[in-house]
Amino acid sequence: MAYWRRTPRQMQAATDAVAVAPESTVVQKPLKPRARMMRQYDLVERVRSYNPDTNEDLLNRAYVYAMKAHGTQTRASGDPYFSHPLEVAAILTGLKLDDATIVAALLHDTIEDTEATRAEIDQVFGHEIGALVEGLTKLKRLELVSREAKQAENLRKLLLAIADDVRVLLIKLADRLHNMRTLEFVPPASRRRIAEETLDIYAPLAGRMGMQEMREELEDLSFHVLDPEAYAVVKHRLDALAERNRNLIGEIESQLSKNLQKNGLSARVYGRRKQPFSIWTKMERKSVGFEQLSDIYGFRIVLADVEACYRALGVVHTTWPVVPGRFKDYISTPKQNDYRSIHTTVIGPGKQRVELQIRTEEMNQIAEFGIAAHAFYKDGTGSPTERLKHESNAFAWLRHTIGILSESANPEEFLEHTKLELFHDQVFCFTPKGKLIALPRNANVIDFAYAVHTDVGNSAVGCKINGKFAPLSSELQNGDEVEVLTSKAQSAPPSAWEALAVTGKARAAIRRATRAAVRDQYAGLGRRIIDRLFARAKIEYADDKLKGALPRLARTSIEDVLVSVGRGELKASDVARAMYPDYKEERLVRYGTKKALAAKAQTPPHPARAASVIPVRGINSELPVKFAPNGGAVPGDRIVGIVTPGEGITIYPIQSPALKDFEDEPERWLDVRWDIDETMPQRFPARILVHNVNEPGSLAQIATVIAEHDGNIDNIHMSRRSPDFTELTIDLEVYDLKHLSAILAQLRAKAVVARVERVNG
Ligand code: MN
Repeated sequence: MAYWRRTPRQMQAATDAVAVAPESTVVQKPLKPRARMMRQYDLVERVRSYNPDTNEDLLNRAYVYAMKAHGTQTRASGDPYFSHPLEVAAILTGLKLDDATIVAALLHDTIEDTEATRAEIDQVFGHEIGALVEGLTKLKRLELVSREAKQAENLRKLLLAIADDVRVLLIKLADRLHNMRTLEFVPPASRRRIAEETLDIYAPLAGRMGMQEMREELEDLSFHVLDPEAYAVVKHRLDALAERNRNLIGEIESQLSKNLQKNGLSARVYGRRKQPFSIWTKMERKSVGFEQLSDIYGFRIVLADVEACYRALGVVHTTWPVVPGRFKDYISTPKQNDYRSIHTTVIGPGKQRVELQIRTEEMNQIAEFGIAAHAFYKDGTGSPTERLKHESNAFAWLRHTIGILSESANPEEFLEHTKLELFHDQVFCFTPKGKLIALPRNANVIDFAYAVHTDVGNSAVGCKINGKFAPLSSELQNGDEVEVLTSKAQSAPPSAWEALAVTGKARAAIRRATRAAVRDQYAGLGRRIIDRLFARAKIEYADDKLKGALPRLARTSIEDVLVSVGRGELKASDVARAMYPDYKEERLVRYGTKKALAAKAQTPPHPARAASVIPVRGINSELPVKFAPNGGAVPGDRIVGIVTPGEGITIYPIQSPALKDFEDEPERWLDVRWDIDETMPQRFPARILVHNVNEPGSLAQIATVIAEHDGNIDNIHMSRRSPDFTELTIDLEVYDLKHLSAILAQLRAKAVVARVERVNG
């Protein structure tokens, strides 16, 4: 449980309870806001629990001032508006911040949204608080203005606004956290935008300030909004795994405690569940699932001092086998954001991999509260801001970044300069209009396109990076300006993109779009099969009539029927019988197929018919497409599809002799066309026959020619027809007809080759 959501008593208990019972093991973060509105005395009690010297009168005056100022204003949820600044203040009590910060949180929306003025706040609460509230007002105005403006400029202004006093950032983050917790009441369109901004800017900023709990909650709340499906899936599995391991978690905690105690160490030991978003990003990055306890739980051992930490490490390492390569000592070498801890993984109780973080109470506070922990750490001296400046690496980083900011002439230069240290696991790119798109590292243009808009992703056909044409699979670099070229002709993305995309958003969208496209394709296929049969049987097709027949077919919609026929689950003749009970299936003997074929080979498909033509994307297409086994078709060939109900479509080149076998089954013939994504070349099988002069090294020469021209040889079958000549049947993989022709031409040019021909089985 996050500190800022605890009652004062729980907080006290958690802080004091070194070596008391391990705290609650299930760390679950409610996504719903607290139901009851906090009262004046609740807030004062919270502050007093960590700051006995608090100026109660000041807190009370701020409470009353803000409540009066906001008056009858309400939030989107219908709650009184005042509940918002109050909750923001409450979040900051969880970070144990000083009175000025709590008071400024209570007042943070007054200048912007009420009659209150800076002068009045200065007068009533003093200059320090007035300056904090004004900083927040500036930020809020910035947000309102900047929606259209360049986001790099926003980020710059955001950081500059924080420069005066980092407490402005802490209040801003708490403000955003509360808004995220209550986001369900906001209209869906702005909900997405706010969640995206949170994930792009505020969550990384919280992380960079060392405030991991805040970061995690912001990420999770955003994730929940941006990809509810993925969130639900991860959450469900997390819950199931946690349930299955419930006893084990308690067992591990008590065994760890017991062993430490035996060695004279008093420690607080607790398991902490990882959050759906962090698990999801890990799954995306490594494309692995989560199965083990160590995937979902980390255990913390919190001790009195640094010496105890190393002793505890010794105890752990001598009690359980260590997993090699997992040990990290961030106590002797702290991270840039002040994080300190020892990390190790052992094969612990129950033969489970157990991830351990060993740290002192102070380190634990910094790990959770980051920069905020410095602001009010009890041993510090001087004003909170002073302490922040002196004690915190995160603050030093912030000052450094702001320094660069004020030196660089334009925001893009700033991005370039800092290499976006803030977002070291992200790349920042721009649309041609200057919109900032933040993506995880390794993301490519496909991810970018989907980040801009799902429609842009689905219809992307090419791109320019910094004005130059580039493949859609190009990995993006910080500061790239990316123009996505789209085509209305592309209704769905190639399914192969799913494997190329890095972000979950892009992958989910691609999966959705290809699924819908495949269904459409099956429906189109079904429609063609039905049309053919009806035309042949000289009966009339009408949607209305089919609608009436739906119950007899046990289908719920016309589309359902078409898809079923396309998939071969339902016969076209059954559809005919359902619509026309006296329909009798006739077998037609012979059909002018040869003639039709010849005509087809000469005339290009009529444009008006193109819609009913099934696009063939290759073997990886989600349609059950196969290529004729003995010398299939390659892109560039004129092709025909032959439907085998229940199996799918086999693609033959139009010259294939095998087509003869289907001449008396015209309903199985299908118009198909190539639909190849040129940015992602795929190979297709082709078979050639080479007659070559039988001399030493001739086979090597032939293989070399093929290899030099980027042909893959799959198989070679050799037979000798005469003493002088060998006949080679070679199965190749080529990109298209042009590629195949080039290889054939190169082979013909060889002296050892007497004759080459393509084989169509
Ligand atoms: Mn606010």
